[in-house]
Amino acid sequence: MSLPTLDENRFQNSRALLERARRSLTGGVSSPFRAKFPVPLYFREGRGSRLIDEDGNEYIDYTLAWGPAILGHCHPRMVEAMTARAPGPFIYGAQHRAEIDVAEKIQAAVPCAERVAFTSSGSEAVQLALRLARAYTGRTLVLKFEGHYHGWLDSVLLSHHPEAGQVGPSEEPRVVPESRGQVANAADNVAVLTWNDSTAVERLLSRRPGEIAAVIMEPVLCNSGCILPAEGYLESVAASARKHGALLVFDEIITGFRMGLSGAQGHYGVVPDLATFGKAVAGGLPLSVVAGRREIMEQMGQGVSFGGTFNGNPVSLCAAAAVLEELARDEGAALKRANRLGKELMAGISALAQARGVSWLATGFGAALALHFTERTQLREYRDTLEDDRGKLSLFARLALEEGIYFLPDGRFYVSAAHTEQDVDATLAALGRALDRLESA
Ligand code: PLP
Repeated sequence: MSLPTLDENRFQNSRALLERARRSLTGGVSSPFRAKFPVPLYFREGRGSRLIDEDGNEYIDYTLAWGPAILGHCHPRMVEAMTARAPGPFIYGAQHRAEIDVAEKIQAAVPCAERVAFTSSGSEAVQLALRLARAYTGRTLVLKFEGHYHGWLDSVLLSHHPEAGQVGPSEEPRVVPESRGQVANAADNVAVLTWNDSTAVERLLSRRPGEIAAVIMEPVLCNSGCILPAEGYLESVAASARKHGALLVFDEIITGFRMGLSGAQGHYGVVPDLATFGKAVAGGLPLSVVAGRREIMEQMGQGVSFGGTFNGNPVSLCAAAAVLEELARDEGAALKRANRLGKELMAGISALAQARGVSWLATGFGAALALHFTERTQLREYRDTLEDDRGKLSLFARLALEEGIYFLPDGRFYVSAAHTEQDVDATLAALGRALDRLESA
């Protein structure tokens, strides 16, 4: 395939800033994942569903900062809440009313949330959930699934995106560490299975009786292509976990307050023992949440150690209160709309492919979806995505940027409460142009 002509002048200010950044900021970016964009952009403004970069290019934003900006950028209710909070104080390191207010809101919305705890990042929330599970069961081993991401820390950065040559047999996947410098024995405490196969879960739990403290998963596999759970899968895993005395942990850091106000657990009607939330919960301010059954959660301070200088940060909680109020308004109209628009986008994307005879697939649930250049018509688990043509996706993402559409480098699109029907129409037209340029090269 010859390459389409790219407009190299379009991003020159971003490129110059990245060059400058590399001389002080390691790698030039604040998270190495961000360097994976076909062009790492510098932004100067954002409002609603739009972002403007340092070259003055305007985009319809489907990254939403990797998820948090669920109300879009500068939502008036968020601006009002932050302005009211601006005189401070910004932190107490002690108790304040907003903690109770937000904990009560989460308790009311999330089925498993008999009790709630606040942390600052998703990675941290997962660590707390797993510690609670290990303390409660007196067991060590955690079962996770290939392709699922639970943060960057040593204990869970395993088999997140292993390469085809690393995964091992699908009946017995290898536990694959992802980072140099990661302690090697992290892998000793984790078992890995391929996802969406409930028989494999039951088999492993039976084979290792009394060993597995927790089964942790993203209830929708958002971090490897937005793959939905097979019919009955979540119910079966919950039943197996219960039967064998392991706790079920849903990592809802993406699905939480994106699928709906009750998360994936409310959507699918499967209530885990513990769940983690982050990203969208405070609309862009750092806040994460562990929620779960009372007797598991109340081990904190009773032998289960847990801390954090920024836990319960008043500014973040003020933002979370505003987000949760907005999302609850009119019986959850905002997320229903975002999910409906996302589904329209998925249908439109499929139609674009059909019209042009291109092999690509849109997967997801609406407010989170992903594009795959693949011959497959269905994706069931991470290994299926290894056949995606990632080079083509990256080139397509680059062309889409030129057409004013900004999505995540792995093909994910997040839809917010600020996106409109007009955005969807404009996006489909732009993606069609990008696809024509890709295919005509
Ligand atoms: N869990 C899931 C499902 C995530 O998607 C992420 C981040 O993308 C994390 C955990 C880690 O969250 P954070 O980046 O806030 O540490």
